[in-house]
Formats: sequence, structure tokens, C-alpha cells
Amino acid sequence: FDDRDGFIWMDGGLVPWRSANVHVLTHALHYASSVFEGVRAYGGTIFELSWHSRRLRESARLLGFELPWSVEAIDAACIETLAANGLKDAYVRPVAWRGSEQMGVSAIRTRPHLAIACWAWGSYFDPDAAGLRLDIAPWRRPPPYCAPVQAKASGHYMIATMSKHHAEGRGFHDALMFDHRGQVAEATAANAFFVKDGVLHTPAADCFLNGITRQTVIGLARRRGIEVVERAIWPEELEGFEQCFLTGSAAEIVGVASIGPWTFGTGELSRQMRKDYADLVRGRLAAG
Ligand code: PMP
Repeated sequence: FDDRDGFIWMDGGLVPWRSANVHVLTHALHYASSVFEGVRAYGGTIFELSWHSRRLRESARLLGFELPWSVEAIDAACIETLAANGLKDAYVRPVAWRGSEQMGVSAIRTRPHLAIACWAWGSYFDPDAAGLRLDIAPWRRPPPYCAPVQAKASGHYMIATMSKHHAEGRGFHDALMFDHRGQVAEATAANAFFVKDGVLHTPAADCFLNGITRQTVIGLARRRGIEVVERAIWPEELEGFEQCFLTGSAAEIVGVASIGPWTFGTGELSRQMRKDYADLVRGRLAAG
């Protein structure tokens, strides 16, 4: 992914794509002291940009480092990067990390760094799939007393990548992860929703990322008068749900056909949520 034309914003200005490098003794590479965002631009407008920039700063703070760039500065840098690459519909990836000024677990003398890349990224999941087939992940999401679960931190993605590879190796698109208690948590990079009797059910986000898309979808559903219940969901309940979909900035809203042995149908409520979200991100529906 490093050998292409284009520009990446790094620590204050644009550099050619191929020159956006870091040293091998970067603290983040050894000790996972990095946080990132995943954002989408639609028709030249970056959806919920400031919300993502705020979360990036907050993620860094949860890991114990302060970014010297304000929300406004990060917003402006994202817009500048998108324009420099001549993109309108794109994925935007800000990443912040501790640098190479110090080696060892302690990182108090490292400097915080920020880079922003963007590229055209169609669908996150296979667009031909009638619905995603999810495996059950062999790894569980850690409890909030073992990790800063509301940080979008690279360290959390070690078990996500391992779970994703495990699922792909068995012919699935992705994996559903349970949490430390054995409750349904989320997929490897997206939140999960279920439908039953016209009501939306989603796991309470008490030990995994409370996604911006998740919160957006909850708002869209309530605007339509659809009841949304955030609660503990146990695997035993999966059998009884009629529809299932995943939400994420990259994934957007994508239907799930099966999780392990349990199958789901397509339905009006999922279709409506997909349409409302598509309308909202493209400015055809006013923000609520
Ligand atoms: N959970 C995980 C682990 C993720 O990586 C993502 C994608 N950022 C989400 C949930 C969804 O978050 P958002 O809607 O803010 O993109």
C-alpha cells in the first residue's frame, strides 16, 4: 500500500505518498501506542468529520498522550488531504502515534505524531455477497478493566485481525466477537444490530467501541419511531432474531445472512436503515 502516487499529511504538511515513513524504533510499532480513525467522504463532504477528530484526540488521551492538534486543525488537515489527492468519495485514515525518541515501555519522552491518508475504498465487504456470513471469533473482547475499550486504539486490533483471519480461513466474511462475559459484542471492525418484531436490539457498548455509525443509526431509527433497545444480548438469543446488520464508517450498513449456524432474512427495517443512512451521508436527509 506504500507504493503509489498521492499525498499524505504528516505532522503539519503534505508529503509524497512514498515518503510518508517512520523509523523502525517507533514506540507505537513495538508497544501499540497508536490510535486511529476511519472516516468516509461522500461527494467531497467528510461525514461527521469533527466527531471523528474529537474521538481521535480522546483515544490518544485514553492511552495517555495529548495531541497538539486541535479538532479544528485535524478537520482542516483531513480536508486538505482529500483535496490534495483529488478525491470526493473516499476513505480517510488519520493515525496518531508515539514516535521514536525513546525505547522501552516508558514513553514519556516520545513526541506525538499525526498522519492522514485517504484513498478510494468502495465497499468494505464483498459487494457481491447477498449477506455476510459471520463465524464466531475464537477471541473475546476484553473487559473495560483490562483495556481502554472506548479508545480506537491499534492494540485492540490484534485480536480483531486474528479473528478475521480465522474466519476468512474457514470461508466466512468476518467474525462476531463475544465479550469477556460471553455476551454478543461486535464484529472485528463494525457494530452489530438485530431485528425482532419491529424492534432494533444492539449490545450495550460497555466493553467495545460505541461506533459513530452505531449512534447515528440509533438516532435515525428513533426518528422513525422505531424502538431501539441497548442491552446485554446472549448467544442463545441469536436463533430468535429475524434480521441482522453491521454498522461502521467503513462498512456502512451491511446485512448479515448468518452467524455460525443461525440465519437471518432481509427485511424492511434493515432496508430502511440502509436507505436512511445512505441519504444522510449524501445530504439528502437533514441531520437530526
Ligand atoms: N467496532 C470496531 C472494532 C471498529 O473498528 C469500528 C470501525 N471504526 C466500529 C466498531 C464502528 O465504529 P464507527 O461507526 O465509529 O466507524
